[in-house]
Amino acid sequence: MKCNTLRCLPRFLQTTKHGNQGYTLLELTVVVALLGLLYTLAAPSVLSSFEKARGRRCAANLLLLESAKDAFSLDHPGQTLTSAGQLLPYLKHGMPSCPSGGVYMNLTEAFAGCACSLNAQGSGVEKDGVHDSGL
Ligand SMILES: [Zn+2]
Repeated sequence: MKCNTLRCLPRFLQTTKHGNQGYTLLELTVVVALLGLLYTLAAPSVLSSFEKARGRRCAANLLLLESAKDAFSLDHPGQTLTSAGQLLPYLKHGMPSCPSGGVYMNLTEAFAGCACSLNAQGSGVEKDGVHDSGL
């Protein structure tokens, strides 16, 4: 059975209190205002969650780099890292990069932990999984 008439629409779309004229400007304005209010309330927490996720991913990348440095030192006792490329055999998915655009430092330092440039303190562990420059 083909449906070419308004009767095929769900009941709530067939008529309004004004008949078949559709929605009034006031009704549409109220709906748009409510959507704007919901967006205003929800956007900060959603954006904050995204930034925290990037920070946690960066922290996980730093742990991966530390593990690669440890594996290198176990496989090559007495040798020192001269380039970050020497870590590549120990990184299954290649060289990780900071999801927030930071640069990883201390990759070849034997006694310094890897750190992200977006952390002002230069520590490898990020407080609460958030970059210092974020939020
Ligand atoms: Zn980072």
